[in-house]
Amino acid sequence: METEVKHYRRELARIVKIAKHLRSLKAGRETSWEQAAEWHLKYANFHNEQVLALTITLSPTGCEWAGKGGCTMCGEFEGAYKGKALIEDPRFHIAQFASAIGNPAIWEAARKENRPIPWLRVVQEGNYTNTKETNIVSQETILRLATRIKGVERITIESRPQYLNDRNVSALAKIVADSGVELEIGMGFEAQDDVVRNVCINKQGTIAQFSDAAKLLRKYHILPLAFVLLKPPFLTEQEAIDEAVATAHCAVEIGFSRISCEPMSIHPYTVVDALTQAGDYRAPWLWSVVEVTKRCAEISKMFGIGGLGYYPIPSEYAHNHCDNGTDCNRRLIDAILKYNATRDVSAFNGVACSCKSVWERECQVSSVPLKKRIQEQLTHVEDLLPHYATKESSKDNIMRSMRILASNSQG
Ligand code: SF4
Ligand SMILES: [Zn+2]
Repeated sequence: METEVKHYRRELARIVKIAKHLRSLKAGRETSWEQAAEWHLKYANFHNEQVLALTITLSPTGCEWAGKGGCTMCGEFEGAYKGKALIEDPRFHIAQFASAIGNPAIWEAARKENRPIPWLRVVQEGNYTNTKETNIVSQETILRLATRIKGVERITIESRPQYLNDRNVSALAKIVADSGVELEIGMGFEAQDDVVRNVCINKQGTIAQFSDAAKLLRKYHILPLAFVLLKPPFLTEQEAIDEAVATAHCAVEIGFSRISCEPMSIHPYTVVDALTQAGDYRAPWLWSVVEVTKRCAEISKMFGIGGLGYYPIPSEYAHNHCDNGTDCNRRLIDAILKYNATRDVSAFNGVACSCKSVWERECQVSSVPLKKRIQEQLTHVEDLLPHYATKESSKDNIMRSMRILASNSQG
């Protein structure tokens, strides 16, 4: 079996070509100079307490990697019309952050929920620490301001490991030092298997890069967070479950302090969306989320389930493909939320639905070898491309709103 990325050069080139083409179909999105693209509150487990986490999405300037094709599942907005100006002049992102934080609706919502907001996530749908995406003055000023917000105890930002180095990590660490606030940096580790990570997902990064980045963050007392993707494209349901379990354990071994398992959701203008339309991909079952979580029970304190709060909003989330008219998806989501709040897999006890046997049968379905499978599915997508149409909901995606996402939604 061909297990090395070098054996997939042709397939990878086809994937990148398709990814670039799909992204080129996406219209530019007008964004505000002064206001953040989106903000929302969600319930979260924080040091075993139920709190609210505030996410502020600054106007995205475009993930540098997405500009080169990017990850096959990622529909994150790859750039505003004002992208360049936002990078050149730090005042815009700083003003967006300040205006979001100053929005009384956020604090009013927290007051009504009777919960503190100790956790702040600042993202811009890309790499916070890449100076080609976020001006260095914005990076540092926003972080400095964030540490001074009353009640904030943890700040999370995101970056690929390629944009983390001793110089910028030590500078960020210096800003938070003595503030008493934890800084966490999330990285899309996604999959431990090189072919899955670097061909199926096109993440491009070695295990050593992730491991070195985790070590570097720990050296400066910054918490490394790994995102683990459940059900990368081209994998069967069972392969996807096994890969997510192996990846979560690998992330712990190489030094990550927290894992957020991200069940795949389907985003317009992505390779995954095109595969779905070609009939070669289905969003993962929630039974698979449960299975992965149970098999990670011994690392449950570090293992949470994410997958909510995207901007733009995806066209489909992970769900049970259940047509027996019960509310099994609702009950399973409630159980997942309970797990996130307690980190106890007994949260799944007693949740049953007859669709579980359909899922079990689907887990037994095998397929042709991965390389042949990728080739066949890419051919289907290439045939579909001239007729590709998205199900993007423009209304949802331009709404800048105060949303409170499902209770306990991310660990
Ligand atoms: S997942 Fe992250 S690194 Fe990959 S294309 Fe999207 S924003 Fe860029
Ligand atoms: Zn069901």
